[in-house]
Amino acid sequence: MAVKDLYTLQDPTKQYPQPKFRSQKQSVPGLDSKMTPKADHGETSYRGSGRLPNRKALVTGGDSGIGRAAAIAFAREGADVAISYLPSEESDAKEVIALIEAEGRKAFAFPGDISNERFARKVVKDAYKKLGGLDIFAAVAGKQHAVEKIADVTTKQMEETYRVNVFALFWMCQEALAVMPKGGSIITTASIQATHPSPSLLDYAPTKAAILAFTRALARQVAEDGIRVNCVAPGPVWTPLQSSGGQPAKKIPAFGSETPMKRPGQPVEMSPLYVLLASQESSYVTGEVYGATGGLEVG
Ligand code: NAD
Ligand code: MG
Repeated sequence: MAVKDLYTLQDPTKQYPQPKFRSQKQSVPGLDSKMTPKADHGETSYRGSGRLPNRKALVTGGDSGIGRAAAIAFAREGADVAISYLPSEESDAKEVIALIEAEGRKAFAFPGDISNERFARKVVKDAYKKLGGLDIFAAVAGKQHAVEKIADVTTKQMEETYRVNVFALFWMCQEALAVMPKGGSIITTASIQATHPSPSLLDYAPTKAAILAFTRALARQVAEDGIRVNCVAPGPVWTPLQSSGGQPAKKIPAFGSETPMKRPGQPVEMSPLYVLLASQESSYVTGEVYGATGGLEVG
């Protein structure tokens, strides 16, 4: 489902589908193409206005969900965009690459597992080389797997969640900072879970709190180098992360109903935050957390 126009005055509670949704379950990592209803990543709805002229951007998790929305918006705003994703997500990624190229921008694809340190570092170095620079690093990739009881959280899952959400972010920021020019922007992705954790997300929620603290600390460290570091903290957003085990399957039909807006957000509703934080317009903004939660409030 996609609204044609994000810019016409309208009731935001009715702008996108509201629960109840159909029951649906995918295996990890899940594909956008298998979601019902289809999510809006801005394919037909996001309009660029020249806010990122000739920028070079890397977006992790750029194949689907929030990362896909950010990648499309960056390209529409004038950026060349590299995306990273897991090899099993190739079909989603191909669509994003085509959408970026349709804007007349360069697009590069980096399939692979960023929980592997060597690969994570290589993605940033290779993206820098292929793009001919790196001005924007949007770290959107994430792993979330709900488990009802603490006794059932395996060490393997704990490790994977921390490696993808925290370690990879750390490694990739190290590489990005080695090559970014003054004016560069790093955008991390936390969650409402950082401050309002769900009982079934005992490993995931603390990784999101770590991302918040990391963002604030790094922002203060690199401000004098002319690099800004900020965080987007979404509430519930309609993406394959959720229907591939991010939520207990029984919660998908009512997903988003707990928000004051009584619906989940769509990925494209996160795009303006990534664009603002990436652009020079937010030159005095660093170490900040921007929420988009349908009214749940991060903090
Ligand atoms: P998504 O499944 O569309 O995106 C997550 C992406 O992470 C995947 O597409 C995949 O490419 C990438 N990824 C996961 N493990 C990886 C690995 N080992 N190696 C390389 N890439 C890997 O779901 P999304 O909801 O758009 O998630 C994007 C970010 O938003 C995540 O950080 C998530 O924690 C965060 N978030 C999502 C919600 C929500 O309700 N959907 C809410 C708050 C925060
Ligand atoms: Mg995906």
